[in-house]
Amino acid sequence: MQHAVQVMYVLSAALFVFSLKWMSAPATARRGVLAGEAGMLLAVVGTLLRHDVVNYQWIFIAFLIGSAIGVPLAYLMPMTAVPQRTALSHAFGALAAALVGAAEYYKHTPHGFIMGALVMETLLGFLTFTGSLMAFGKLQEILPTRPIVYRGQNVINLTLFAVAASFGVALVIHPEQTWMFPIFAGLSLLFGVLLIIPIGGADMPTVIALLNSYAGLSASAMGFALDNKLLIIAGALDGSSGFILSVIMCRAMNRSFTNVLFGAFGQVQVSAAQTAQRTVRSASPEEAAEILDSARRVIVVPGYGLAVAQAQHKLRELHDSLTRRGVDVQFAIHPVAGRMPGHMNVLLAEADVPYDRLHEMDEINSEFAQADVALVIGANDVCNPAARHDRSSPIYGMPILNVDHARTVMVIKRSLSPGFAGIDNELFYMDRTLMLFGDAKAFLASIVKELAAAAKAA
Ligand code: NAP
Repeated sequence: MQHAVQVMYVLSAALFVFSLKWMSAPATARRGVLAGEAGMLLAVVGTLLRHDVVNYQWIFIAFLIGSAIGVPLAYLMPMTAVPQRTALSHAFGALAAALVGAAEYYKHTPHGFIMGALVMETLLGFLTFTGSLMAFGKLQEILPTRPIVYRGQNVINLTLFAVAASFGVALVIHPEQTWMFPIFAGLSLLFGVLLIIPIGGADMPTVIALLNSYAGLSASAMGFALDNKLLIIAGALDGSSGFILSVIMCRAMNRSFTNVLFGAFGQVQVSAAQTAQRTVRSASPEEAAEILDSARRVIVVPGYGLAVAQAQHKLRELHDSLTRRGVDVQFAIHPVAGRMPGHMNVLLAEADVPYDRLHEMDEINSEFAQADVALVIGANDVCNPAARHDRSSPIYGMPILNVDHARTVMVIKRSLSPGFAGIDNELFYMDRTLMLFGDAKAFLASIVKELAAAAKAA
């Protein structure tokens, strides 16, 4: 039986690797998810078959409790709330790793390298647990989203971490001194809270990717502590992919890691431009339909508002209608459009928009200059020209989509309200910009209707 379990573990590890590979492209992403699920099923079944698993009734009770929380969580939380749902999942995963570590410590009191791995596992597990709960609270706006800062914060945090780490080292040297363990666990939990509160809500998705990485490293350390190779591999994959993701997100927003972790970004900023009176030009669905109809090349820029309005299916209809009329329609995807990496890809895939129409920012940015229309739908920060030249702007330096290079820019949103970064967008006041005020789904539906009416009349 033990042999069969090892084979299942190897298969499962291979499936995890393939899963990550496949999930990196929209065309194979579904297969990637299935491979990941199959890998996890094999891992769970393999573990249940191990001779050292004895208490099936407890496992069953835990399974019921976990499902009772997990299933409604998956179904009830909308797509736009995925970042906070992910934060909660990390909190639970990290707590599980930390509790397994604590149980292992009190049961076996390991020594040497194993104790070192166990200390690493519990430190990262506990701090990721409270850190992820803070991230969840901020994203769900249960906690203040602005950075909570005070004088000497970084020194206090570093000192706290150093004290927690010292207790960890002391535990490795003297594992039998069990009184130290609760103090070590308490300090780790507190550090998780203090690490996250100075970070603004705007940086939370990046922080969640980083916490994902910590949870993975904790699981990997748990693999060493429990002598489970699959956990070592899966944890390392999780740890490294979370880290790479946070680096990609930092780059896409032109922020450095230290800036995200210590920069207190997201404080309310009022720019002079916000108070100045400027005029905007707006257009009706009928006018917008006419402009689109006479265009040859249209580049659509989807953003967070598309997800809020759930307008992806209407957008697909618009794509179909324009394509039928010989208009070339492409989609420009900014790496941090929406509220999580890949948010727009997922939305558009849901509506079966052909993958070959989707282009990453670097691929399509030079093509806006040849586009007749840039149609921005519920996007804001990702096409704010201030990022290029306004040094005082919080998004200065973030690479943006060059929508302002298109002949005509049309922006569907409900008002002139700012987006995630809380700043005004000069794009809305440009001469070549037409604001299409309204809910994305309703406005797109009206445009599609106008196009259909025009086709009938022709
Ligand atoms: P955004 O800047 O947040 O703007 C979204 C716009 O959608 C808002 O200005 C809002 O304007 C509009 N909107 C909301 N509901 C709408 C509806 N029902 N119909 C039409 N419009 C609607 O979005 P973005 O351009 O996608 O930029 C993403 C932001 O999130 C960036 O600042 C990025 O740095 C940040 N972020 C993203 C990630 C990620 O992984 N994707 C991670 C971290 C941070 P109205 O209220 O006027 O309608």
